Amino acid sequence: MRHFALIGYSLTHSQSERLFYEQHFPDADYRLASMPSLKGLRQWVKQESISGFNVTIPYKQEVIPYLDALSPEAETINAVNCVVLENGKLIGHNTDAPAFQQTLVSAHWPLADNAFILGTGGAAQAVAYALRQLGIHYTMVSRNPDVHPGSISYSDATFQSSHFTLIINATPVGMYPNIDQTPFCLSSFSYPCPYLFVYDLIYNPSPTRLLREAAALHAQTKNGLEMLRLQAQLSWRLWHLN
Ligand code: NAP
Repeated sequence: MRHFALIGYSLTHSQSERLFYEQHFPDADYRLASMPSLKGLRQWVKQESISGFNVTIPYKQEVIPYLDALSPEAETINAVNCVVLENGKLIGHNTDAPAFQQTLVSAHWPLADNAFILGTGGAAQAVAYALRQLGIHYTMVSRNPDVHPGSISYSDATFQSSHFTLIINATPVGMYPNIDQTPFCLSSFSYPCPYLFVYDLIYNPSPTRLLREAAALHAQTKNGLEMLRLQAQLSWRLWHLN
């Protein structure tokens, strides 16, 4: 039996375990490993004979010092969401970026030329990498723009919002159980707003409050479910499960 897992804190929102077992992979199991800290990570991998694991909020960047090497993409993005144990070494990969890129392309949104990325964490870095691959200009929005060079504040983003045709939520704001929250107020967009595309990486709940408010403006919307499935499939491939 090969053992796989998802590490993060906390994991109440996660659907990764259900997705894994839907595949009926032979001789493989998957568990949710909620970790308040990464201190004992390498020992846990050894003790539990883990062959590979996914990484979620809040550890996609914090996990890097615990690994032995990174794929070129993970190194450029500076975030890891999939780890493979290869010859005793922990190798970090990023499957969020290709998954996001593919799902954005499949949405066939011709007006996506200027994007806001809400958040500056691991998922936001993967989204930024994918947008660079697609030649889409973006600006990151942060609560602390002073510590994230190149990012702007939420009040500046609201002020500039009429120049943007794509908003991507890469923060956990609005995620279960805090479903009444929204990361960005859309009141500066005038109704109707068919040129706007709002992509929320959150998949639980679906739709989020952000997506409900975007739909009320007649904007195009997309939740994180397709991306979740795709990044999982790419992880399974790295673990040689399919
Ligand atoms: P993370 O590394 O913890 O980063 C989240 C970023 O969001 C932070 O860096 C922070 O940026 C911002 N943020 C955090 N709390 C906030 C708050 N209360 N208000 C406003 N901004 C806040 O998390 P992550 O791993 O990037 O994941 C972010 C979200 O994307 C999660 O909901 C996750 O489930 C989702 N996700 C979905 C998929 C998928 O396949 N659908 C894949 C990856 C991630 P600032 O400090 O700069 O403001």
